[in-house]
Amino acid sequence: MTPLGRLIAARVAAEGPITLADYMADCLMHPVHGYYASRDPFGARGDFTTAPEISQMFGELLGLCLAQAWIDQGRPLPFRLVELGPGRGTLMADMLRAMASVPGLAGQIRVGLVEASPTLRGVQKDRLQGYDVQWLDGLADLAEGPLFLVANEFFDALPIRQFVRTAAGWSERMVGLQDGRLTLGLGPATPYGPLAPRLADTRPGDLVELCPALPPIADEIARRIATHGGAALVIDYGGWHSLGDTFQALKAHRPTDPFAAPGEADLTAHVDFEALSLAFTRPGARPSRMVPQGQFLERLGIAERAQRLAARLQGQPLDSHLAAYRRLTHPSEMGELFKVIACHPSGAPPPPGLDPI
Ligand code: SAH
Repeated sequence: MTPLGRLIAARVAAEGPITLADYMADCLMHPVHGYYASRDPFGARGDFTTAPEISQMFGELLGLCLAQAWIDQGRPLPFRLVELGPGRGTLMADMLRAMASVPGLAGQIRVGLVEASPTLRGVQKDRLQGYDVQWLDGLADLAEGPLFLVANEFFDALPIRQFVRTAAGWSERMVGLQDGRLTLGLGPATPYGPLAPRLADTRPGDLVELCPALPPIADEIARRIATHGGAALVIDYGGWHSLGDTFQALKAHRPTDPFAAPGEADLTAHVDFEALSLAFTRPGARPSRMVPQGQFLERLGIAERAQRLAARLQGQPLDSHLAAYRRLTHPSEMGELFKVIACHPSGAPPPPGLDPI
């Protein structure tokens, strides 16, 4: 077992089984042994690759999308450009480069990065030298004002709880110990208020997931956009409504047992876009419709951008550029699995590429 595995096993032995959310939080963010806290997990030699690491086109188009939302709202100044979970800082660097060409924006962008990992904060600092950047523990630390925000593969890293419907109510899946090993078991079945609405669309035996950290974060985004203007783009894998087990571990680009080596694999779950949409609905703010990533990027003009970049390339670099375009957009790659939703002020259109509700 890993050092973190031994710590978690000791906790379970002393206190009893813990929720999957507690397990995920420890595995990802334990200050010493947590997965993100201790490493840079991205790229070919890491455990997974994200859209901005695949091609510069992703960040460029997102940057111009938010710049257009800024123009549509009368170019409010000052404003904050915020990213939740910025990874290596690649997405923000590509966004800033593209946005600098927009008249009136150059020199005006103050960046806020919400990042929990000290290791990744260091990587972001190197990557974003020369820009006005502030690191934040959460949105609560951000000054009030217009907010233009992006979150790519952030919400899937937030801890989830899982519940199985039974005749007597909902049984939570808990992480316990069996023969010295961490394993999943089921807690006692009880009625559970927050899941009451799910009685209508589930049957005994069905599993649903809840992400307790999602609503407060999404509510705060919507509150700021309703009050001060701005727009948020959330991109992640998932869909409408949570049904079924989507908890997974990735190590070296392969699925692995989430309990085999705590702290050494990336743990994620699909994002429930219905929960985002609900939180983005409040007086003064609205969600857009959810759209697949491939369609969203095509609407923003990724084909034209890809052609423009291709004209300067030959041989292997051209092949990998075309493969990157396909990977971001094709339905059998990231194009359908990943979805996009926006939050925008009620009085302004959604950012380009997204449809109003
Ligand atoms: N957006 C980046 C990175 C995605 S990985 C990209 O597209 O490449 C997830 C990121 O979220 C990492 O930077 C991780 O450290 C950060 N993160 C995960 N959970 C977090 C939390 N609870 N608070 C702040 N940052 C978190």
